[in-house]
Amino acid sequence: MSRATKIVATLGPASSSPEVLERMILAGVDVVRLNFSHGTAQDHIDRARLVREASERAGRQVAIMADLQGPKIRVGRFEGGKTQLEPGQRFILDAAWTDLGNNERVGLDYKELPRDVKPGDTLLLNDGLIVLTVERVVGDEVHTVVRLGGELSNNKGINKQGGGLTAPALTAKDMEDIRTAMSFQCEYLAVSFPKNATDMEMARQLANVAGEPWRHKPGLIAKIERSEAIPQLEAILKASDGIMVARGDLAVEVGNAAVPALQKRMIRMAREMDKVVITATQMMESMIVNPVPTRAEVSDVANAVLDGTDAVMLSAETATGKYPVETVEHMALIALEAERAEDISLDADFTNKRFGRIDQSIAMGALFTAHHLGCKAIVALTESGSTALWMSRHKIHVPIYALTSQPLSQRKMALYRNVHPMLMPSCTDRDTALAKAEALLVEQGLLRPGDTYAITCGEPMGYPGGTNMLKVCRVGG
Ligand code: PGA
Ligand code: MN
Repeated sequence: MSRATKIVATLGPASSSPEVLERMILAGVDVVRLNFSHGTAQDHIDRARLVREASERAGRQVAIMADLQGPKIRVGRFEGGKTQLEPGQRFILDAAWTDLGNNERVGLDYKELPRDVKPGDTLLLNDGLIVLTVERVVGDEVHTVVRLGGELSNNKGINKQGGGLTAPALTAKDMEDIRTAMSFQCEYLAVSFPKNATDMEMARQLANVAGEPWRHKPGLIAKIERSEAIPQLEAILKASDGIMVARGDLAVEVGNAAVPALQKRMIRMAREMDKVVITATQMMESMIVNPVPTRAEVSDVANAVLDGTDAVMLSAETATGKYPVETVEHMALIALEAERAEDISLDADFTNKRFGRIDQSIAMGALFTAHHLGCKAIVALTESGSTALWMSRHKIHVPIYALTSQPLSQRKMALYRNVHPMLMPSCTDRDTALAKAEALLVEQGLLRPGDTYAITCGEPMGYPGGTNMLKVCRVGG
């Protein structure tokens, strides 16, 4: 059985050598994430080329996801790089302070903070390791009392419990970075800290304009990591191609304990709305330093798979960790094993469902037939990949082979659960196309003589959204 769940891996110093990256792709990476919080525009352009070349050598098409930094709200820098905060002491966050910080006060790169907080608010620094309570706001100064102390070093992030920071989702740097990302035609653009659908619509407009010279349109992923985004989830999903359960920042804002249930809800909603979903952050955290994962991490990855996520994501594990290749290998094995235990919900999904589109009905017909007839495979001849996306929103233990003539569609589909995208030159004659598709799958060892499979296509051939035909075939017959 082939793995259905996809793996997103973040590129960083630990994975930027051509050899390591190629080994990671061979070990199962489907999408490479470029983190725009680090590095210059040229660095990202170089990294994108590295990914395209490594994927070429590995003989596996991977997608590139450009992840914008967003309005990460941070403290400034300190004398000596850090300070030690003790519980009970007073500490001032000062938007007007331009010197290096010390044990009494530190500057802020987000000048609006004093206007966004009021006495009694809880601020979480360094991913929640340091907790401050706001006592009062005096001009540009936020006076706080340290509740949970610890070492605070340069440029650590600030979150407000319960949300409420007004920083816009797209900074001037993000807008510049969108242009960079479009220059190498990233398949996905991830937007950090969106509050609502408007943030996503704005990002899409900027991306489409920047991609115009190449007529390139990326898929948009909304990173759900703000309290404010939760009540807006449905609208955000509508405005996006997918979401990321960004558990790092989300946990700081809504509290750790609320995250697992939110993860399940987000995955369910995304799938019901025909969108993709990535589960991210600290999935294999201990493998940054250890060659094997903890039991809890194995369970976390397996549970995300059983929740129905399209992809599981690695951050520091592959960006700066000691075992980038091994981490991917472990993750792939865990996903594969968990998928065996997955329930099939196909029939229940269809009760009470109506389809307004011919292509979508054909896609569902193929699923239903493949499942009940016991087909070895579902084959979708698709231009845009939407047939394969619809098919992949339902849990079925039959692999979906998506054959497209569009390299961009092929790479986009690398993120879809249970979809195995392949390139096949387009042809105008239906019977030739069907014969070619079967020959390709047999040649790849994916189908054998006697196997039955369901295949969908559109007639006339070659138009996106034109799927109107389902055929059930037996190989060699
Ligand atoms: P980040 O986003 O790694 O860019 O912070 C993911 C998260 O917050 O979980
Ligand atoms: Mn984040």
